[in-house]
Amino acid sequence: MVTWQMAEEQNRLLRESVRQIARTRVAKRAAEIDRAGVFPWDMAELFAQQGYLSLMLPEEYGGMDGSITALCIVAEEIAYACGSSSLMILAHSVGLMPLMIAGNREQKAYFYDRVAKGHALAAFALTEAEAGSDAASLKTVARAEGDFYIVNGRKCFVTNGGAADLYSVFVTTDPSKGKQGISVLMVEKGTKGLTIGKREEKLGMRGSDTTDLIFENAVVPKENLIGGEGRGWELAMMTLNLSRPAIGAQAVGIAQGALDFALEYATKRVQFGQKLADFQGLQFMFADMATKIEAARALVYKAAALLDEKVYERDRMSAIGVDKLSAMAKCFASDVAMEVTTDAVQILGGYGYLRDYPVERMMRDAKVTQIFEGTNQIQRVIIARNLFKKFWTKDVH
Ligand SMILES: Cc1cc2nc3c(=O)[nH]c(=O)nc-3n(C[C@H](O)[C@H](O)[C@H](O)COP(=O)(O)OP(=O)(O)OC[C@H]3O[C@@H](n4cnc5c(N)ncnc54)[C@H](O)[C@@H]3O)c2cc1C
Repeated sequence: MVTWQMAEEQNRLLRESVRQIARTRVAKRAAEIDRAGVFPWDMAELFAQQGYLSLMLPEEYGGMDGSITALCIVAEEIAYACGSSSLMILAHSVGLMPLMIAGNREQKAYFYDRVAKGHALAAFALTEAEAGSDAASLKTVARAEGDFYIVNGRKCFVTNGGAADLYSVFVTTDPSKGKQGISVLMVEKGTKGLTIGKREEKLGMRGSDTTDLIFENAVVPKENLIGGEGRGWELAMMTLNLSRPAIGAQAVGIAQGALDFALEYATKRVQFGQKLADFQGLQFMFADMATKIEAARALVYKAAALLDEKVYERDRMSAIGVDKLSAMAKCFASDVAMEVTTDAVQILGGYGYLRDYPVERMMRDAKVTQIFEGTNQIQRVIIARNLFKKFWTKDVH
């Protein structure tokens, strides 16, 4: 059994080793990945070798048994150096979560093997053009036919879209049932009838691969259904509860990277005969930036620790408020990342606005953390709904 102290020590060692990789090997590539806007396959291979793509897997597959704290540590440390690279790991891990939560023994053995031995990348395909924040109104349909589902529809904004080998795809198996008709299928690259749409040109996270997935009479074996028909919405919500702290961790990493760069810059740049670091007006900015990052980090790892108590069951999640904390962590940390990176650009003055320095990339990368995995407006809807819940229902206290 893993005790609390053992887990702490394991996490400390993990952070040390990821930090070393991030600050030596990943940091070197970050500017070029952004400039080229091409998926960094060398980073994918590095992360597979380091075991970062297996984090969600059970220990016998070299993983950390779905530890959200471990995922947060990896996301934070890699994001410190390169947002796009950390997003690859996050989208992959999120793509595996429905399987991790509700896959059966055969499904886990098959897909985990593909990840651990075959270095297969995963992706999570929920969003559609007409179903963004209102994801439950998705229209991609899976019609049962013998041993297969015939899938038709189009997913958009799929991170790792072109690079992934495995997709968890949210479909309706019964459009008459609304949310209760949503199901999730593991779909493999190469499936007949599945094509990858164009790669999106983005403001930030430019090395991340964002594409449509187009299903035209795609043939998916019924054995790839995760958790049974009609469980898709529940699994999507559970997945997002698990993954939101990790998005928060990514935001914390980006913010810390920007703060550290600005701190060093301020000790070197001289104006009015003194270093920028000696202006009290800037010192106060630094103090606020650092304080916000620490607050965000505390919230992120508190939410992660609660999730690691394996409160995966939806009722328990809701009862102890994990969904609220998870939303708070994502929302607060991503707002902090946007504020801190914008301030870092300001502190560098005109140079902050140039591609020669990393803070403008960090600012562009930070923006999307306020948008994906549910926009921050949606996170506030979730938080507020939790706050008012006891007034709206009689049986919950
Ligand atoms: C780079 C990137 C990567 C992504 N990766 C993935 C992925 O891997 N898988 C995936 O499935 N999706 C992914 N997404 C999609 C992302 O989750 C959606 O973009 C997001 O949920 C918002 O949906 P939308 O873009 O349709 O905006 P809309 O839903 O159209 O929202 C537009 C605006 O209205 C606001 N709004 C909407 N509803 C409400 C409300 N009820 N109350 C208050 N305000 C509201 C929103 O906050 C937003 O400001 C990604 C997006 C981006 C940009």
